[in-house]
Amino acid sequence: MAPAVVAPAATPAPFHPDRVRVLKPGSPCPSGPVVYWMFRDQRSANNWALIHAAALAARSHAPLAVAFCLSHRFLGAHARQLGFMLRGLRLLRGRLAALGLPFFLLRGDAPDALPGFLSRLGASALVADFSPLRPVRAWKDALCERLPAAVALHEVDAHNVVPVWVASGKLEYGAKTIRPKIHRLLTEYLVEFPQLPPPAVPWTGEAPPEIDWDELIGEVVREAGEVPEIGWCEPGEEAAMEALMGRKDGFLTKTLKLYDSDRNDPVKPRALSGLSPYLHFGQISAQRCALEAWKLRKSCRQSVDAFLEELIVRRELADNFCYYQPHYDSLQGAWGWARKTLMDHAADKREHIYTKEQLEKAETADPLWNASQREMVYHGKMHGFMRMYWAKKILEWTNGPEEALSIAIYLNDKYELDGRDPSGYVGCMWSICGVHDQGWKERPVFGKIRYMNYAGCKRKFNVDGYIAYVNKLVVSTRAPPRTIAAGNRQQQFDFLLSPLSQPLSASATCRQQQA
Ligand SMILES: Cc1cc2nc3c(=O)[nH]c(=O)nc-3n(C[C@H](O)[C@H](O)[C@H](O)COP(=O)(O)OP(=O)(O)OC[C@H]3O[C@@H](n4cnc5c(N)ncnc54)[C@H](O)[C@@H]3O)c2cc1C
Repeated sequence: MAPAVVAPAATPAPFHPDRVRVLKPGSPCPSGPVVYWMFRDQRSANNWALIHAAALAARSHAPLAVAFCLSHRFLGAHARQLGFMLRGLRLLRGRLAALGLPFFLLRGDAPDALPGFLSRLGASALVADFSPLRPVRAWKDALCERLPAAVALHEVDAHNVVPVWVASGKLEYGAKTIRPKIHRLLTEYLVEFPQLPPPAVPWTGEAPPEIDWDELIGEVVREAGEVPEIGWCEPGEEAAMEALMGRKDGFLTKTLKLYDSDRNDPVKPRALSGLSPYLHFGQISAQRCALEAWKLRKSCRQSVDAFLEELIVRRELADNFCYYQPHYDSLQGAWGWARKTLMDHAADKREHIYTKEQLEKAETADPLWNASQREMVYHGKMHGFMRMYWAKKILEWTNGPEEALSIAIYLNDKYELDGRDPSGYVGCMWSICGVHDQGWKERPVFGKIRYMNYAGCKRKFNVDGYIAYVNKLVVSTRAPPRTIAAGNRQQQFDFLLSPLSQPLSASATCRQQQA
């Protein structure tokens, strides 16, 4: 649906004061460095949290540093996600250095790693990214208790175009209730970013320790190696901008016009932006994506509007759900009508029941479902349309909605490069628990939850074409990794060895692979 806004102003707008929340006030006369605790928004450009931290530092004539806390396997991350993130951070460190900003990589969870670090620096303020997820909120609560009294803690929503707390003060029922609220606010928030000013005061404090990135990445990736890295998606801000609008293969440059017509066709994955890994790790700003897409609205109106609906409304609806619903990943978080209908049908006879292990190994009687599971396991990004079918089938084939939801979230978070994200929890909750959806005609097992089946997919797209496409992907993924970008990212899918034909040579990039 078209955003009811006038075109965003091309001239940079100042930082909107409602984008920040003061979680802890700190000293009235701050002195000492400002530290930006980067977490969800891992980028140097188009980053409101960094812009705010720089302004705070300039105001108190203090230096600014960036810190990242490397938690131990946050939300069960595997090599696939951790490798992508660390390789992105390695590049980011260089970009920050070019801006005159030191980057400190701390080991451990923020409440353990930051207080001592800030005391040592004599810091006056900590600026944090926003995340609606429970563990991050718990970290901030703990930090409010553990930080020295004089240190302020500010939280900035640099991930959403309209900050979650501004878009709505409550749990929204669905896209139709949050959409008008967000659209109304876009003139105020969908604005061009100001330039990050050079540091007001150069950093002369303790120097960040050298990081042996190869050793660090090797260690982390080995330890979490059950799900190996993928080689098709280059990490980092530069690669993210290339995926958005690169001259050779960028989404806006090359395939935007397909988005409206083909985004729900799994045989045409190139019609999608492919941006979710970058958005998840904050290597690109959704606001930058929206601003650039908006510029093309005259020539590609339907595609731009459809893209903005997903990028802004649906994504921010997911943050709204996780922020205002503490049970965002369990049946308890479903609406009453959905819980009731699911429980009414929890004991219905299922045609098939599969264990978690059978599902993980793609050992079902449905070749379409198996293909989607393999797309996720091997490629690390399942097509958006297939994600719905995939999760709904898990509801159909397990012992009730709670088991289905926990298996769907487990698999999604384990294998998707963009997993462990509010959009993932909400995607599973939408598919299995009817969140942000309406009730449909009652039927066995699903009750009033929207149903999807193989015959419907067959009518909609070339199912055999999709299965063949995934088979090719799997074969190319199992080929030796690329030497340059993938380094020694060895593919280890022994637990899922498939009886496929000869390996192809690994193809160059995601978007080439999808072509
Ligand atoms: C069961 C299930 C699980 C999902 N798991 C995840 C996940 O782990 N991580 C994740 O980022 N998304 C998830 N999604 C949402 C969506 O499928 C993906 O965001 C999308 O497929 C990513 O590919 P893309 O960037 O090429 O999509 P595009 O269609 O190009 O969309 C552009 C961006 O808009 C946002 N977006 C698109 N669709 C949705 C949606 N339905 N809800 C919220 N935001 C959306 C994403 O940020 C996406 O990157 C899930 C959906 C379902 C049904």
